[in-house]
Formats: sequence, structure tokens, C-alpha cells
Amino acid sequence: FEPLASDFYSYESALLSDREKDALAALRAWLESDVRPIANEYWERAEFPTQVVKPLAEHGALAFAWDETRPFENSAVFRGFVALELARVDASIGTFVGVQNGLATGSLAVAGSAEQRREWIPKLASGEVVGAFGLTEPLSGSDSARGLRTTARREGDDWVLNGEKRWIGNATWSDITIIWAKDEADGQVKGFIVPTSTPGYEATKIEGKISLRMVQNADITLTDVRVPESLRLQNANSFRDTAAVLRQTRAEVAWAAVGTAIGAYEAAVAYAKRREQFGRAIGSHQLVQDLLVKCLGNITASLGMVVRVSQMLDAGQQRDEHSALAKAYATSAMRETVAWAREVCGGNGIVLDYDVARFFADAEALYSYEGTREMNTLIVGRAITGEAAFV
Ligand code: FAD
Repeated sequence: FEPLASDFYSYESALLSDREKDALAALRAWLESDVRPIANEYWERAEFPTQVVKPLAEHGALAFAWDETRPFENSAVFRGFVALELARVDASIGTFVGVQNGLATGSLAVAGSAEQRREWIPKLASGEVVGAFGLTEPLSGSDSARGLRTTARREGDDWVLNGEKRWIGNATWSDITIIWAKDEADGQVKGFIVPTSTPGYEATKIEGKISLRMVQNADITLTDVRVPESLRLQNANSFRDTAAVLRQTRAEVAWAAVGTAIGAYEAAVAYAKRREQFGRAIGSHQLVQDLLVKCLGNITASLGMVVRVSQMLDAGQQRDEHSALAKAYATSAMRETVAWAREVCGGNGIVLDYDVARFFADAEALYSYEGTREMNTLIVGRAITGEAAFV
């Protein structure tokens, strides 16, 4: 196991078991050999390299978290390091896993019946089924707890869904999309496993993104989409259950933010060592060292925070405000870090060839999705003052 130089306080070595280190090392080697070389090309073409799904599954990246599929006992800190590792090489691949594993499989794990878990989780963990998670709508983003307009109407043994979704990752090619909709009868948010071949379901790719270009985000329209009661998530009874899914994934986005920051920082360090100006490597100039050290300070502080949040998850102590603070802090620190790393690379910092540009651009999406910095701040603000500023 080769520790990362950017893990300055050696968290990996100190906290992971030998089994976890081996799994992480294997994933790292595959990402370096098979993903890093193609990342800029797919990013520029705005295409997702679907050939990565099978190896991701073989490395356990879609299976580690679930009772039904985990190859060995593992900790939330280890799964955090997996999220970090994916984003350190490419944040779009990390986001694919975040959607497939955290959001789609996570919805089934949190809110599915035992039978639904048994049926779907192994298929999602093996990559046989690609999943998406449809919560956000054109008119409802931060306020999706109360603002959802998509409706679900019970008709006999079926449910009929109508509405629109926006920004849904993987949704142009997913086999199923978890659709969150308001029950017309009781006004509560419920979740549905919608096979994307169902008549009335239509997904259109969002073009022109400048961030996470590989991820296929879609606008979805649902026109009298009919699904049986057996595809309603049996334990999703209100938005509280949707929020329970997001509580876990938010902490993983914080880990991915650390990975994205590290990806940019490592590219900047490599550049600073080889680029010469004024007759010496730019890394020998004091102000360039200052930028690199500020990056490392942000990374190391964020890493301490996400490690602790994951330890609290394993100890059953993690609350909404804990993951919200980690997400708000780590993504803000990431945004600052990728900008400094890009600064180190000068003009070459804005072209894909030098890698840092991809991390710089991708950071923007991580900053906004799964709760913007403002919304996560307000969740923490509510916890420390007892006053909810957003209701
Ligand atoms: P808005 O809610 O319109 O917010 C705009 C601005 O106003 C933000 O700065 C926000 O912080 C601020 N604001 C809003 N309300 C308040 C308030 N009360 N106080 C202070 N500030 C406020 N969604 C899914 O369901 N599934 C996905 O797979 C998915 N993938 C995504 C992938 C990408 C690349 C992106 C960009 C988004 C994705 N999303 C997905 C949606 C994402 O979760 C939303 O973009 C996010 O929740 C913010 O919503 P919004 O974009 O509608 O912004």
C-alpha cells in the first residue's frame, strides 16, 4: 500500500484495516491505468465512458456499503476514502458512483422493503442495473422538501405519476430512476422505482454544461407514468425518509470534495516541479510554495472533518447538521483550493492537457449539488440557534 503524499497526516495508514488498504490500492491502480488517461477526452466530448461500470463493480465501489453485497466488513471511513479516490482521479466518475450507489441504491437501502432490497441492491451493486435519483425539479431545487410538484395518484394496484424533473444524473441511460413525488391523497412525498422503459417517461440530456461534463444529467418529463404498488418504496412515507438518504450522501460529497481538491493540488505540485521561470522551477519561488501550502492546509483540515463525520456515522451519532457542516466546509475549501492550484499552473491552468482545469471546472457542480453551501449552512444554523431560517 503506497500512501498518498497529499494525505499529509497519514489518515489512511492510521485508520484503514489491511483488507481496506488492499481494496483501496487495487481501485487506485485501476483508476490510474484505465481512467486517468481517458478522463480529459471524455470530459471534452461530454460523454460518459460506460465501460467503467463493470470494473467499478468488480472493485466493489458499488457494493461496499450494503448488507446484501459487501465483500468484507468495512468502515464508513474506508468508504469515504473510496469516494475521495474516485474524485481524485475524476469527479465525474465519482459522481456516477455517488448517484448509482449513494442515491439510487441508498434509497432502496433506506426506504425499500426487505423484498425490494433483495431484488434490486445486488443488481445495482453489480452494475447490471444503472440507477438514477429524481428529486430536483425545474421549479424546485433547494426547497424540494416542500416545493415538489410531481404528483402520484393511486389507481387500484397502480400509481400514476405526472410532473417534471431536472438535473437528474445518469438519467439519459439509467435502467431505473427513483422518482420522488407527492401523493395526491395525503400530500406526503413518496418514492417510486420507475423503469425508464415505462411509457410516458422521457429523459432529455442537458447540454452545454461547463462542469462534470461526463455526467449525463437530464430533464425528465413524466406523463401518466404507471407503476405498480410493488415498485413504491415501501418505507418512504414522507420527506423525512428522502432526507435520510441525503444525510448519508452529503457526507460522501464532502469526501469527494476533498478528492477533487487533492486532484487539483497534485496536478499543481507536479507542474510546479517541472515548469521553470526566472531560471528555476516555479516551485522554488516563495509565493508559489505559499499557494501549494495553502492548498494542503485546506485539504488536511477538510480531511480531518470528513474522517470524524464518518466515524460518527459508524457510531450511530451522525446528525443532519454534522454532514451538512462537512459538505458546506469541504466544498468551500475545495473551491478555494482548485482556484489556487489553477493559479500555480498559469495559462496552462485553463487547458485540459494539464489536468488542473478539469478539477477546477468540476468543483462548481459539487459545490451546488446535494444541498448548496447556503442550504447546508442553514441546516447547521438551525442546529446551533434552534431557529430555522428557511421554513
Ligand atoms: P436554487 O434552489 O434555485 O438556488 C439558487 C441559489 O439560491 C443558491 O445559491 C441557493 O443556495 C440560494 N438559496 C435558495 N434558497 C435559499 C434560502 N432559503 N436562503 C439562502 N439562499 C437560498 N438533483 C437530483 O434530484 N438528482 C440528481 O442526480 C442531481 N444531480 C445534479 C448534478 C449536477 C451537476 C447539478 C448542478 C445538480 C444536480 N441535482 C440533482 C440538483 C441539485 O441538487 C440542485 O441543483 C441543488 O439542490 C440546488 O437547487 P437549484 O439548482 O434549483 O438552485
